Amino acid sequence: MAKKSISDVDCHGKVVLMRVDFNVPQDDSGAITDDRRIRMAIPSIESVLSRGGRLVLVSHLGRPKGKGPEPEFSLHPTAVRLGELLGRTVQFATDTVGPDAESKIKALKDGEAVVLENLRFNAGEKDGDAAFAGKLAGWADIYCNDAFGTCHREDASMVAVPEAMGSKPKVVGFLVAKEIEYLSDTIANPKRPFVAILGGAKVSDKINVIKNLLTICDSVLIGGAMAYTFSLAQGGKTGKSLVEPDKVALAKELIAAGGAKLVLPSDTHCGDDFSSNCNKQVVAAGHIPDGWEGLDIGPETAKRYAEIVSKAQTVVWNGPMGVFEMPPFDEGTKAVAKAIADSNATSIIGGGDSAAAIEQLGFADSVTHVSTGGGASLAMLEGEKFKAVELLDNA
Ligand code: AMP
Repeated sequence: MAKKSISDVDCHGKVVLMRVDFNVPQDDSGAITDDRRIRMAIPSIESVLSRGGRLVLVSHLGRPKGKGPEPEFSLHPTAVRLGELLGRTVQFATDTVGPDAESKIKALKDGEAVVLENLRFNAGEKDGDAAFAGKLAGWADIYCNDAFGTCHREDASMVAVPEAMGSKPKVVGFLVAKEIEYLSDTIANPKRPFVAILGGAKVSDKINVIKNLLTICDSVLIGGAMAYTFSLAQGGKTGKSLVEPDKVALAKELIAAGGAKLVLPSDTHCGDDFSSNCNKQVVAAGHIPDGWEGLDIGPETAKRYAEIVSKAQTVVWNGPMGVFEMPPFDEGTKAVAKAIADSNATSIIGGGDSAAAIEQLGFADSVTHVSTGGGASLAMLEGEKFKAVELLDNA
């Protein structure tokens, strides 16, 4: 069900507590190396500020211990960067529920913003503590969740805070609304054929995604190292490829459950070493010689997968087809990415490595949606219901 959006509520003169995902990568000196997550939150931020809202931004950064400030995890650099991006002053409070936050929030004027210090400096954030949540909620007139990357978690700022808002408005930001639209609504009601492409290192990370997508997709194409565990399950030879022997029984179950829907590679691009300049050969799937390892799908598989994608109306992709960081073992991933970009299908790219691959290859503008959440996007593809989203107001 669609959730009420930040654009549906009157923000003028109201304190809007917005949970964002400012968990940005930083170098050793603390400089932000990629500000994409801050930039992605700007539409929701601008929407509040341009309508005269008083904006309080909260986020976590990294994994501090929850026992007070740890300077390397301070959100201060994100407040500075946000100010630069917005071209206006953004204040920063040196605590989250302490006197500095309180006085800066009380002093906010219409159209002004403050970033509070890292939520996770407080034990209450991970513990879902009601007193901690009550303090944050008590300052706010409106709660907005625009932190998709954390939506599968039940941290205080995601669940206890909106719960503590009582009957006050609890809405989604534009980023979360878009993720729900594609990763949940489109998938629940797909145009067919609906094709999923799943790759990456391990079957174990994606068991529930494969299970769920097998129940709703017309085809689930498998690539990446996880294909070799399926190959083992079929009695194939996998050489020294990355496999999970303890998941062979499960792979057998998935093969039986999937039937013709589950599509496995027919050839494999192998190397005799995990490096770009190793000796290479393409072999039939399940025939990887001893001392060799599968590092990518082979060209026949890439062509077959591209053909299946070209006929799809909805495509979901999560996980690379091979070691795409190490050419020429990026070829399978490139072929699939190009097929998705060339197709007219609604195309949804799961977060993490596939999102990085589609951007690196320059196809990000040719797909419908690139998810910003790694774990959250996988959880949504597993069909998981997120408490942090469910408790927000319906549209
Ligand atoms: P994941 O995080 O599960 O999506 O896995 C992504 C990682 O899987 C990437 O770093 C790839 O290099 C790796 N990967 C994909 N295919 C293979 C393979 N055949 N052998 C080893 N690693 C692989």
